[in-house]
Amino acid sequence: MKVSKIVQAKKKEGKPVLSFEIFPPKKEEALKNIDATLEKLCDLHPDFISITFGAGGSAVDNQTVELAKKIKNNYGVEPIVHLTCLHYGKEEIGMILSQLKEEGIENILALRGDINPNIPVKNDFKYADELVAYIKTQGDFHISGACYPETHLEAKNAIDDIHNLKKKVDAGADHLVSQLFFDNDAFYRFYEKTRIAGITVPIEAGIMPVTNRAQIERMVNICGATLPAKFEKILHKYEYNKEALFDAGLAYAINQIVDLIANDVDGIHVYTMNNSKVAGRICDSIRNLI
Ligand code: FAD
Repeated sequence: MKVSKIVQAKKKEGKPVLSFEIFPPKKEEALKNIDATLEKLCDLHPDFISITFGAGGSAVDNQTVELAKKIKNNYGVEPIVHLTCLHYGKEEIGMILSQLKEEGIENILALRGDINPNIPVKNDFKYADELVAYIKTQGDFHISGACYPETHLEAKNAIDDIHNLKKKVDAGADHLVSQLFFDNDAFYRFYEKTRIAGITVPIEAGIMPVTNRAQIERMVNICGATLPAKFEKILHKYEYNKEALFDAGLAYAINQIVDLIANDVDGIHVYTMNNSKVAGRICDSIRNLI
């Protein structure tokens, strides 16, 4: 089923969608254990699960589509396949789209991908809106796109970034998933600006439960999310107490989610980092809200 239909159906019930993000593990050992993780995540009944896509490497022979197939066929949950385009040509992207059609996978998160100086860029696509437009010509897919409540790091400014986001939606993106953030007010301000700019598609709020210190430093360096004072206090207080940081980080994320749901967001997208225990604790806490 197309994700847009699922979002619409939940909206009619006055509820947000709940989705998870996972990544294909790089190490062979972890990949062997992924079935156990998938089983636990799918048992939590998310509305859909998105699977990240690495930049570079073989586009067709990748684990993203394999995991999507498992999620759909073995566990009956709808998958969204991420697809990046900076390092791939139309032919390679076209081959993946054919593969998806053959497998009956209807949902794609169309991304530009990060610029990696070590991987040569192909020149068929410069921005995600071009990939969205291309996918539209290749089949009847649901297309999601990424958005940035605190502005994409390469954008000139927030206004430019939102105008560019509008181009992605005008090209055919049906739904947006936000970058992670720790300050809900930043998301609410961004959401309002998108509506002023004429962007009307549903926007899911990206929440990353931070349960260890290494994770936070890495993520903030990569995506530039601001850390509210309240959150920094937790990190400082519990940085050397693994168990306490786990509980406090999880509680912070759950608090964010409860506030977002109370403010009628379209959906919550949990960056699970393949951690089914974290996803399970979140679901236990919000089961009656979704
Ligand atoms: P774009 O929408 O193309 O935007 C990139 C920059 O270009 C922005 O600054 C924007 O303002 C500007 N821009 C956009 N369109 C135009 C235009 N037409 N003219 C001029 N400027 C323009 N990365 C991965 O490698 N694999 C993944 O699986 C993955 N999953 C992600 C999932 C989510 C929900 C998010 C938020 C990010 C994900 N990323 C992933 C990271 C993403 O690839 C990077 O953030 C990347 O730098 C931007 O991708 P984008 O699709 O948002 O790019």
